[in-house]
Amino acid sequence: MIELKEISKRYGDTVVFDRFSMTVESGKILAVVGNSGSGKTTLLNILCGLIEADGKVFSDETGFSYIFQNTTLVPSLTVKGNLDLVLKHKIPDRVTREKLIGEMLQSVELEALADRYPLTLSGGQAQRVSMARAFAYPASAILMDEPFKGLDLRLKAKLIASFHALWEKERRTVVFVTHEIEEALLLADRIVVLGGAPARIIGDFEPGVDRASRIAGDPRFSQLRAEIYDRFYREN
Ligand code: ADP
Repeated sequence: MIELKEISKRYGDTVVFDRFSMTVESGKILAVVGNSGSGKTTLLNILCGLIEADGKVFSDETGFSYIFQNTTLVPSLTVKGNLDLVLKHKIPDRVTREKLIGEMLQSVELEALADRYPLTLSGGQAQRVSMARAFAYPASAILMDEPFKGLDLRLKAKLIASFHALWEKERRTVVFVTHEIEEALLLADRIVVLGGAPARIIGDFEPGVDRASRIAGDPRFSQLRAEIYDRFYREN
């Protein structure tokens, strides 16, 4: 659980947050949707303590794992090596680590690429390795900053399915920020919409549809989608 209470943050004359409050539930996937420049990255950084802000942050999470839009895999290590790097500190036994790495790569359908180097992977494949790595890292919370940005819808859906497969095995607390409402509809338990400057919560929704069966353009979301778009464009 993470709770932001009356958070204020400014950069020079730009007031990003002014007494902003929000709660993040444990073991759930929260999407924060907002326009570019609305304060999403700043929010993630405040949540994990990477930047300081006025106000209070309460958290009982044990560590944070971050997935960025551009992957940060180590180029001199193979796919397997990249995962091993973060597991080494947690699991001393090599055989146990290898088994776990195998299972994680299987979840994201990348077993065949275990010995490849990051520069030989496509963007989507590299992003799937990053996701597996984030789950390998012993953190109770995962923060994602526009992890699906710039990918076509099919690839996006595949990545979202991969993420979901990893998450189902071990339900971490997840906060991901995006400007794409559709991504939030596919993955989130709860969707918070940011608007205005300084940013405030202008919508707070719970899709309540079994995630495993969600597909892009799912008609069960039409009412919710319309409401979110309406709120989003009316206030931004
Ligand atoms: P988003 O992630 O929604 O695009 P950001 O959190 O990156 O938004 O930025 C929110 C606002 O704060 C923007 O106006 C941005 O220009 C400004 N900002 C973010 N980081 C800095 C910084 N380090 N220095 C100055 N201004 C910043």
